[in-house]
Amino acid sequence: MSEQDNLEELGKSALARVAQAATSAQLDEIDTEYLGRKGELTLQLRKIGSLPADQRKDFGQAVNDIKVRITDAIEARKKTISGGEIDAKLAAEAVDITMPGRFYRIGRPHVLVQTLAKIKDIFIRLGYEIVESPEVESYHYNFEALNYPLDHPAIDEQMSFYINDERLLRTHTTAYQHRQMEKRKPPIMVCTMGKCYRVDAVDATHNHTFHQVDCFCVDRGITMADLKGTLYQFAVEMFGADTNIRFRPDFFPFVEPGAEVAVTCSICAGKGCNVCKGSGWLELAGAGMIHPNVLRGAGIDPEEYTGFAFGFGIDRMPMVQHGIDDMRLFMDNDLRFLRQL
Ligand SMILES: [Zn+2]
Repeated sequence: MSEQDNLEELGKSALARVAQAATSAQLDEIDTEYLGRKGELTLQLRKIGSLPADQRKDFGQAVNDIKVRITDAIEARKKTISGGEIDAKLAAEAVDITMPGRFYRIGRPHVLVQTLAKIKDIFIRLGYEIVESPEVESYHYNFEALNYPLDHPAIDEQMSFYINDERLLRTHTTAYQHRQMEKRKPPIMVCTMGKCYRVDAVDATHNHTFHQVDCFCVDRGITMADLKGTLYQFAVEMFGADTNIRFRPDFFPFVEPGAEVAVTCSICAGKGCNVCKGSGWLELAGAGMIHPNVLRGAGIDPEEYTGFAFGFGIDRMPMVQHGIDDMRLFMDNDLRFLRQL
């Protein structure tokens, strides 16, 4: 085999390897192997001195031709490969914008907060001012100012959470009434709502912590008819247009006369069911005309002004509405339960 043929073979195998190279790094290796300082073609050029003088020019020309072809082939291949590498990189880093996003569960108000918000909205529209009131209350405001005689059995009966001799966790939201009467002048229309506490044997329908709403109105010429109208309007907005209300005499120290107020059972529409124990009525509120002693104690003249007051628990409302049979579920913070409401 002549030197020329050797050269041709070398060139072919180099070009074949360039054509098969798959990465830029492989092309760099081929470049070094053939064209580098100790590369195959560089070694060929060094042979020139040992050739007969008449062959040297052609041989040198041939080596250079092959060098140029290999160099061009490597450059061309590099361009192709780097284009492919960019495509591959882009493909690997691609974001699939059609994939569904991550789902985050959206929170919602607690069912009792929802109920309180609805009640608040109704009383605001009836003209009441919603006020904050302390959960830690004095014995005076919780009992004494509301006309409870010191030896009244209710004081022991309610078995309150006393903090010291003077202070206790309020047993009813009615405790705020005297605070409001003392610092306002009639006409007064205020409403408060929140937590109340009593020492009670905890079961499905009793808890040590429960929620109440209390409203009262004082002005000249307020009568029992205003009380009935207000509670009727509330009942219709809260429970539906077909709701009716029933008043029966009852006793509370801070009202005279006092009444127990019931509304049409919303489960059976008054026909009688398990929830209303067949009566067609559900107890809603304690109510009445504010006792003259309470008004007088707050510096309001009962000869000039009269007022009505009513209060009710709210925990039973969502129980009836959603058919929940255990009051404790509201305070247990079990999300599996609360997410259903
Ligand atoms: Zn019923």
